[in-house]
Amino acid sequence: MKILPVSLLNYNKTATEQRPIPENNRNSYFRFRNPGLLGLPHDTCTFSGKIASIVTPTMEDLINKTKASDIVRSNILRLAKYKIPCPCCGHIMLDLDRYNKFEQKVMSTTTPKTLLKFISELGAYLHPVEAKVLDMMKSVHYTNPDMTLQDILRSKLKRSEKKLIMQQSKTFVTLGMLSRKLPQDTGEEVKGLINETYDRLFDQRETSRFSRKVFIGKLEAILDKVKDDSLKSEFIQEAVKLPTAYNSPDAFIVKYAKRNYKGANPDQKIALRMLSNSLATIEHIKPQKLKGGNSPENLALECACDNNRRNHSSIIEQILQNPSMLINYQRYMDRLSELHLKGVLEKSYITQTNKSYKLESGGLLESDLSKLKYTEPSRKTRKVKSGITPTIAERREQRKTKLKTKKTWKHNHKK
Ligand SMILES: [Zn+2]
Repeated sequence: MKILPVSLLNYNKTATEQRPIPENNRNSYFRFRNPGLLGLPHDTCTFSGKIASIVTPTMEDLINKTKASDIVRSNILRLAKYKIPCPCCGHIMLDLDRYNKFEQKVMSTTTPKTLLKFISELGAYLHPVEAKVLDMMKSVHYTNPDMTLQDILRSKLKRSEKKLIMQQSKTFVTLGMLSRKLPQDTGEEVKGLINETYDRLFDQRETSRFSRKVFIGKLEAILDKVKDDSLKSEFIQEAVKLPTAYNSPDAFIVKYAKRNYKGANPDQKIALRMLSNSLATIEHIKPQKLKGGNSPENLALECACDNNRRNHSSIIEQILQNPSMLINYQRYMDRLSELHLKGVLEKSYITQTNKSYKLESGGLLESDLSKLKYTEPSRKTRKVKSGITPTIAERREQRKTKLKTKKTWKHNHKK
């Protein structure tokens, strides 16, 4: 057998050096995966192959593939099939296999009824906005079964657009009031941007469509000249309140009713979009842009929606924008701990990612891992009743009594 050097697993040495993890058991990690290397027979290994391969690559994996980091990523992604809540929003994430099957089914049809059926089948994975949109689409479809999904969205466009502009206006008014605090010329620029945006909102032409992202970008560019950081953040905190398709059904309807699908079938695209946000993706706890590595302790699962929204920002910024993450993170870790207890996942992966989260969040995120007591899988466990482990003699006695009761019961019932 070809023995791979241990260094193959230290593919991201710099990241490990940057992040001091006191109990970094990377080597022992390697040992239980490959007991043969220590001269131990495989059956004395504490961890079964099933557990070792779920996050870390097995020897077989490493021989067949060259890039260990890719194997780690795909193994972590595979965990999503165990219905894990997203550490940020708390919604159960959809695993790639299920999504791929859904995509295949969606691409095989254009009938609104069938598409709605396929989306409903995965209804448990829908995020709140998409769930509301699905309910709306189903109720319109009930009375108008021939309408396409995009036509259903279009039928609600006027109403949603009106509601959306009202929500957006609140933010623009607040930004206008805030601009009074700025030096005169910068204040004028902000007011100019707001007026230009209003023109866009009421313009029907496709070329002059409002984009939240572009608006915030332009606002940031104007505010670059401002030296007062707290004033700047006041502006940005207000601007990010502008509704998006992630948090407002009206914004969703406006965005996808108006979208040009460029030759693709709009209904198939809309159906896929309904579930794409729920998809489990790999999140770098410390973003790659901030020199976060690809080693297992820096990789976690997160839904596509939160992963996209987080972009390259730090965990602290993400928590500020999603305060419920403090609770959802514990749920995520609890689920991983449960999976460990079921013998699916390595303990070290959980403790190491927990350390990374703690480090990156400045201690804000740290899971109570008290559920993580289990260390050895597939050992014959004794049934513990009322906290006392019965001895072999006691168990023999229990079996006898059980048989006796069974016999007496049968005997009595024959009569
Ligand atoms: Zn999420």
